[in-house]
Amino acid sequence: MLIGIDDTDSPQGMCTTYLGAVLVRRLIHEHMLVREARLVRLNPNVTWKTRGNAAIMFDVEGDPARAFEISCRLVEELADFSCENTNPGVVVTDRHLDPAFFKKAVTDFCTTDEAVALLDTAGARYRGWKNRRGLIGATAAVASELADKTSEILVYREPSAFGSPRNVSRESLFAAEAATFPHTWDTVDFANGVVVCVPHTPDPVLFGIRGESPRWVMAARQMIESEKTGIEQIWVTNQGTDAHLLPGTTGHLTDLLSYLVPGSVTSKPETKEGGHVSFMMNDGDFSVRCMAYEPTKNFRTIIRQLVPGDEVIAVGSFKKGSINLEKIRIVSLARPATIRPPLCISCNKRMTSDGKGKGYKCKRCDARAAEPEVQEISRSLEPGWYEVPPTARRHLAKPLCRGEPE
Ligand code: ATP
Repeated sequence: MLIGIDDTDSPQGMCTTYLGAVLVRRLIHEHMLVREARLVRLNPNVTWKTRGNAAIMFDVEGDPARAFEISCRLVEELADFSCENTNPGVVVTDRHLDPAFFKKAVTDFCTTDEAVALLDTAGARYRGWKNRRGLIGATAAVASELADKTSEILVYREPSAFGSPRNVSRESLFAAEAATFPHTWDTVDFANGVVVCVPHTPDPVLFGIRGESPRWVMAARQMIESEKTGIEQIWVTNQGTDAHLLPGTTGHLTDLLSYLVPGSVTSKPETKEGGHVSFMMNDGDFSVRCMAYEPTKNFRTIIRQLVPGDEVIAVGSFKKGSINLEKIRIVSLARPATIRPPLCISCNKRMTSDGKGKGYKCKRCDARAAEPEVQEISRSLEPGWYEVPPTARRHLAKPLCRGEPE
């Protein structure tokens, strides 16, 4: 059977993955076999999410009625029902659900009615609390098929420590990243000297290590020194896979979806108040603004070097008329030049234009020249892919160390 759960936490505490890790132990205690624990990230632009729009799924061998009962009881025990935005959903199914629902939940928006219709068709057991919105994520999780997958080990805190400041050795995190990158990523941000994998929210997570496989995340995890830890769970995930991206064209982008959009830069990048950088691009018919926000730090240095005529592929979510850049491919560079009247060979003075299409003339000696002086402006930017730093990376964004988007 497949068990799906979502929407159990609030900004004040809890985390659906922690509830899932506890559930795994309860199912094992009931002599069930847990084949896989899966953590899926859904559309990152869903506004009613708590943090990273995660949902969880377990592939389990055992009695579905009993598993459903245990799961529902655990949700009632641990979910933060006091929060208006916490609307848990639990699904147990022994039949596979159409993966198109999962694809839609990652790239677009779904309704509770769509989820319920799918669950009814499959004859699934399900329960939704309050407005039942968690059924969307829970259904998407059990419908998930991962073409590309990564791993994350989540190390949770002892329950007595929940809410207090975390104690994880910064040095050990930097050492773990140095020893295991590019097989693990986003533990720390070397360029900005920042720890990335330790949350600051009052949830049960102490730290999480992301990587290519359970072995690699475990290798890094074993190097990390910290306060006394609670339970730990290795998850199969769609994090770092770019699963949220759709091919897009300017003028045909839908708000709150995420795209790869080709086009030409049409305006010089400008740095606005707060350090946010923006430029316009165009694919022939329509223009769109691209934004590199201040938290994208050194990525903005790349964006500021773009000039009109550069061919790019902008990657990110379309929000309120702008593409919020996660990555960019510089396909080809324009060759900007300064054009001015030539110097007179005899006088070494700059000539003046003699009128449109009439060439240039020296005011002193009347010498003439047909062509202007063209000086190409040298560019240090190289074509290729560029990405935001780990501190600004979204869960679903594929780090370039895993390969370039297809
Ligand atoms: P949690 O740790 O509880 O999962 P979160 O940040 O992942 O926290 P949720 O609290 O789960 O966010 O809130 C997200 C809500 O949005 C859930 O109710 C989920 O069912 C719903 N949801 C997720 N993806 C979509 C989507 N594509 N369309 C509509 N609703 C969605």
